Amino acid sequence: MVKRKSSIRLKVTLGYIVIIVCVLLSSILILEKVTVLNGKRSDVTNRNLEVHQMINTVEQSIIQIEKKQNSYILTGEKRYINEYEEQRINVLNDLENLKNVVAKQSNEKILALDLEKSVNKWITLIVEPSLKIREEKSESAATIFLKQKVENAEIPNINRSINRLRQEQNTILNDDTENLEHTSVQLMWIFFILILSIMLVGLFVSNYVSKNIIQAIQNVKKTIQNIRQKGGDLKERIDIISRDEVRDLTIETNQLLDQLEEKEWVQNNVNQIIYAYQGVNDIHTLGDVILSEISQVIHAVHSVFYLREEQDNDILYVKKGAFAENNLDIGRDSFKLGEGLIGQVAKDGYMYKMAVSPENTHVISTSLIDTAPRTLLLMPVYFNRQVIAVLEFATLDTFEEKHVQLLNKVNETLGISIDSVKRTMHIESLLSDSNRLTEELQVQSEELQVQSEELQTQSEELQAQTNELSTMNDSLATRTKEAEARTRELALANRDIETQAREIAQGAKYKSEFLANMSHELRTPLNSILLLSEMLTDQENSHLSDEEKEFAKVIHSSGQDLLELINDILDLSKIETGKVNIEFSDVNISELPTILKANFAHFAKQKDLTYHIEILGEIPNLFFTDELRLRQILKNFLSNAFKFTEQGKVEVRIQSAALITEEMQKVSDDWLEIAVEDTGIGIPKEKHSIIFESFHQVDGATVRKYGGTGLGLAISKEYAKLLGGFIQVESEEGIGSTFTLYLPNMRQCQENIEAMQGSLAVQPEEKVNIFQGKKILMIDDDRRNIYSMRTLLESKGAIVTSGESGLECLQKLQYNTDYDAVLMDIMMPGMNGYEVIQIIREQMNLDLPIIAVTAKAMEIDRDQCMKVGASDYISKPLNMEQLLSILRVWLTKEVKVK
Ligand code: ADP
Repeated sequence: MVKRKSSIRLKVTLGYIVIIVCVLLSSILILEKVTVLNGKRSDVTNRNLEVHQMINTVEQSIIQIEKKQNSYILTGEKRYINEYEEQRINVLNDLENLKNVVAKQSNEKILALDLEKSVNKWITLIVEPSLKIREEKSESAATIFLKQKVENAEIPNINRSINRLRQEQNTILNDDTENLEHTSVQLMWIFFILILSIMLVGLFVSNYVSKNIIQAIQNVKKTIQNIRQKGGDLKERIDIISRDEVRDLTIETNQLLDQLEEKEWVQNNVNQIIYAYQGVNDIHTLGDVILSEISQVIHAVHSVFYLREEQDNDILYVKKGAFAENNLDIGRDSFKLGEGLIGQVAKDGYMYKMAVSPENTHVISTSLIDTAPRTLLLMPVYFNRQVIAVLEFATLDTFEEKHVQLLNKVNETLGISIDSVKRTMHIESLLSDSNRLTEELQVQSEELQVQSEELQTQSEELQAQTNELSTMNDSLATRTKEAEARTRELALANRDIETQAREIAQGAKYKSEFLANMSHELRTPLNSILLLSEMLTDQENSHLSDEEKEFAKVIHSSGQDLLELINDILDLSKIETGKVNIEFSDVNISELPTILKANFAHFAKQKDLTYHIEILGEIPNLFFTDELRLRQILKNFLSNAFKFTEQGKVEVRIQSAALITEEMQKVSDDWLEIAVEDTGIGIPKEKHSIIFESFHQVDGATVRKYGGTGLGLAISKEYAKLLGGFIQVESEEGIGSTFTLYLPNMRQCQENIEAMQGSLAVQPEEKVNIFQGKKILMIDDDRRNIYSMRTLLESKGAIVTSGESGLECLQKLQYNTDYDAVLMDIMMPGMNGYEVIQIIREQMNLDLPIIAVTAKAMEIDRDQCMKVGASDYISKPLNMEQLLSILRVWLTKEVKVK
């Protein structure tokens, strides 16, 4: 049961009422206390005043009695007796009053009684007898009596009593005043405590009320936040914890969430159902899918799908699908329009929902129970304002509102889908008819096609043969023309060549004759000088003084140096004229240490140097290179090492090259590395390159101190180049030097070299070397081609510059156009030969001869080469003789390319 609602307003009002009641009660309490205090205060003041007045009255009366007594004694007038009597009665009354007033104060009461006693005693014993004596005797007798009685007089007692009474009253007044002050302090404390309590109550009440309200609002906020954070999960509900307006808000919000959840449930399930029958194009499958999907969602145990069909002018609703949890075959096969409930729904077009009695329905049996559906729902499906299908569902329970909503939603699109499936089926049946026809036609057309293709092939073959014949004719005609032109050019060139060759041959002859003569002419006297000077240095020639013997030694050693110089110059001139004979063979590397050791051990001993040769790691026993040149290079390295080292060591290390760069790999996969290291004077960094040039030494002092020609390293470098390798130097002044020779195993290049040597061999001894000094730029991405062509052309005296890409060629031509010919490979990655030639001709405007080297030997390739501006072309694989003769033509003629 919902408890009675307590609104926020009620809570706030109640809070205020509690605070106001507290304030009122405290005010009344304090007011009452203040009133009591004031009453007490006035009591104390009044009583004090009254007591003092009484005492004063009594005192006045006593004085009056004394006055009247004295007056009577002096005058004897009777009136004074009367007045005295009056005063006596007054004083007695006053004393009685005084007693009454102080009756509550015991001390005061005793003092009042004492006073009364003294006054009575005074009146009885003194006043009354003195008056009697005056009356009976005389004034003097009365006076004497009085004088006699003075010593015993009661007046001092009376005065003392009065004073004590006054003091006592003052003491009482002080006590009462103190009590009153104490009470007033107490009152103040009570006041503060009450104020504090009210404030606390106020705080408690406001806290309770606000907490009550805020807690409820926060609950609502938290739930809304949760829904938002969970991406709109509408399952979340707000807990109802208050009984105020927030409760109404909570209930309303929860109801809204229920509604949204229901809507979402409907939409999700509708989507799922629609998605399930997407793509279905058979009406039976459509019926089964719809029934199965919807039944699961709305918990229907039976469902049937009837589709409108027109048969013989009758409208029938024919069963196209059924769903039963126990797989029974349910539902009649068809209904006429208006027949049974199905026919009725189809006719009326309304949805029916009805409860059914168990006897009229199928019994649903499970392994545990037999039960019957309780609710039926029939739904018409519309398309084009016509009921095109009827769906029937039965459930064991009831259909909820959301189930009906879902069915209505599904119904919105179901009609279209059913109609579209019907149409698709119709189209498919038409299509299959048409396909059958098409297939028949296809077979006939294929037969025709085969016949036509056969004819086509025959005609193409004929065409191709005709084309080939005409191409061959063209090519033959062009070739003939070219050959004629080439022959004419060759004849002309040959005449030029012959003239030049005669001149050059003459020059070369003079040069070699000169060198031979010079060597002979120099060697002959040198031999005598060496022999004679050696004889003179001989110890047995005792007729020479020591100084003369020293001169003879100098002559001998200078003669030796001269002989070495002549030999070196001859070597270098041979290299330069390409007359060095390189003979590659299998060299036994393993015996190299023994040979080197034997040749230089005595130098090491002479200079007291450590000399060490070692083979590091595995090296091949046989290495394909020129042994003589290899030994010459190493001999040069070692003689330099021993010459420039005064102390320490000379070390030779032989090993397979540790690092083979991509460049090196293009020449060979197998490289040998021989390093000669010394701890000699070293070479400054800036001189590392010039020491490889002819006649260059580190400085003049070197010549003076160590002698030498400055040719050894230049020759070594050339030899290393001819062997396909190179030299590297690492050196630091004052620390030492390492000269390293890198040599490729030339086995892989052997074939090329053999081909090259073969071509050189068949070449008749050239009378005139027209290649001498000619600058040729060679562009090819294959290093081996470059190597073999370079070796061939350099052996002819040409100066060859090479590049491996079109870009490199253009860069080289940009810096130097002074080339006599360009050999251009066509097939290159990146920029191909055609493009490069075109740029050279059209953009750089260079008219130097360009010979295209192409692997394609087709007419069309040649045309392409000529079209882009090549001067000539030669096809791969290269025939050396052909290459040389083409080059000969272009190197001797004045080229002007159109
Ligand atoms: P040279 O006949 O003068 O030795 P090289 O061409 O063999 O001619 O050497 C050229 C120069 O390189 C030498 O003069 C010397 O200055 C320097 N050089 C060569 N090898 C060494 C070395 N191992 N240590 C120091 N300097 C060297």
